[in-house]
Amino acid sequence: MEKIKGVSRTKELVLEGIPASPGITIGPTYVYSEPRWEPVPRVISASQVPEQIQNFRNSVQAVLEDLKNTYEKIVQQYGPEIAEIIEVQIAFLEDTIFLGEVEEVINSQRYDAAYATFQVFRKKKEHFLRMSNEYFRDRAQDIQNLKERIIKHILGYDISASITIDKPVIVIADTLTPSDTVHLHKQKLLGFATNTGGKTSHTAIVARALSVPAVVGLKKITEMVESGTTVILDGSHGRVIVNPSPETIRRYKKEQQHLQVLEEKLRKESKKEAITRDGKQICLQANIEFEEELPQIKQVGAKGIGLYRTEGLFINRSDLPDEEEQTRNYTHIAETVYPHKVVIRTADIGGDKILPGIFHITEENPFLGWRAIRFWLDHKEGFLAQLKAILRANQKHNVQILLPMVSSVEEVLQVRELLEEAKHLLKKEGKPFGEPIDLGVMIEIPSAVVVADQLANVADFFSIGTNDLVQYTLAVDRGNEKVANIYSHFNPAVIRMLQMTLEAGKQANKLVGMCGEMAADPLAIPLLLAMGFECLSASPTVIPEIKQIIRRLELKECLQLYEAVKQAITTSDIVSLLKEFFQKKLPDLYEEIGA
Ligand code: PEP
Ligand code: MG
Repeated sequence: MEKIKGVSRTKELVLEGIPASPGITIGPTYVYSEPRWEPVPRVISASQVPEQIQNFRNSVQAVLEDLKNTYEKIVQQYGPEIAEIIEVQIAFLEDTIFLGEVEEVINSQRYDAAYATFQVFRKKKEHFLRMSNEYFRDRAQDIQNLKERIIKHILGYDISASITIDKPVIVIADTLTPSDTVHLHKQKLLGFATNTGGKTSHTAIVARALSVPAVVGLKKITEMVESGTTVILDGSHGRVIVNPSPETIRRYKKEQQHLQVLEEKLRKESKKEAITRDGKQICLQANIEFEEELPQIKQVGAKGIGLYRTEGLFINRSDLPDEEEQTRNYTHIAETVYPHKVVIRTADIGGDKILPGIFHITEENPFLGWRAIRFWLDHKEGFLAQLKAILRANQKHNVQILLPMVSSVEEVLQVRELLEEAKHLLKKEGKPFGEPIDLGVMIEIPSAVVVADQLANVADFFSIGTNDLVQYTLAVDRGNEKVANIYSHFNPAVIRMLQMTLEAGKQANKLVGMCGEMAADPLAIPLLLAMGFECLSASPTVIPEIKQIIRRLELKECLQLYEAVKQAITTSDIVSLLKEFFQKKLPDLYEEIGA
């Protein structure tokens, strides 16, 4: 694609990417481009092998040292949560098995250090890109960054980051490394737009932490604009408008003002209780995956954490996080949200959340395989370390345990035994911990719904994971766009599953919450309240909106809606009923949610 030069320079152009951090910003661009390092295959003689291996090792060491320095700077500038993105890169460069592959290529195929690095890192990057889990796909970018920097060093170039900006600009880049971001001062940065990356790429994470709008995955934006070009960056819709017309600028400025008013309104609203107009109180909690999301929890007025996905601690590393590391992480989270609670889910690894550096698992059907609790019951040492760490973080009695992928009562009984063993070990080792601790079960497999009455005898609470429950109930892969039209939490079969679980919980007097995406769907809220859900957990960004909806609803009206939903036979009938309800009762919000 051509750069916009000459005639096309003033023409308005709309580029679509992935929304990474919400908000609208308008301003001049600064295009930051680094050359791509693509060395040609250079074959060396046997006598050059030791020198090339040493060359590779020195370069890894140099990049590692630079990353460690950057880590310190990021901690000072942005806090420890953002610095986690550097830890991921450091972990890759400390993975001796992975690095050994480069040395093996130098040794056996006789390629020089630059080409061997290029080849092995490219394969690794492609491996990550094929994963269905978005977080892992985004790590491909880390591999790419590391590859470029190691090759640059091998070829004798300076690896220190060079990006500096001295006036307010929207930074346009192929990708931004964590080291680049430390050079960007908050005040001067209007937004980011990058060719690559997904919602969990570091550009996205940093942009959200700095509250600047960002669009990623634009593919070729660096080829479409020059520095100084005026652009509109719409981080909420993942859109960049290059050379906007005066009319487009007017429209977006109006939208920007509207968003500011809305944000202000939501911020005020977030301090209020999640309570319906006729007095039904709902416990609205946050789902988090990383410590860096902690500040948002308070900002959006969530009542603690209803789901802490601990997988982030286990991925991209060559060893398991030990009990001490996990204890530090969980304790920090528990102390930050105190007096509210945090529900810590034991690591849901397996499926598409694999641990390439730790266990090499290849399965025909990973979603039906050695995932989550099934995996840990076969790796008791690792599981005991996590249970002990969770118990140690419970010293203020605000921690609960949640088990993913439970399919039978036996699994919970086995975990209960291990939990007793964990307590016994902690006592023996003289480490303080908090008990009792609630043990909850995720309801996300149909068999768990069917035996929910029996599970209620061994669990302290239930949390429904609709993301997997829909997948397993309807036999539809949650990540496969070809069957995405069948995947709906409004399918009547799914609604019945929810009813059955609620009933089992009610009979045994056990709380039934929801932490799947259905709890974050504005359209679902009136239905969930009518069904009897009192505790919902959703991503922090949607909490103000969900709270606003709850505060505008009357339970009485929701109950009438539910009666109609119970009679509906098809998914589309149910969706139509919910839309009609919204249109009639909350017409302004109906427009906002764009249903
Ligand atoms: C779910 O399945 O609904 C859930 C919350 O878990 P995850 O999305 O992490 O599988
Ligand atoms: Mg799940």
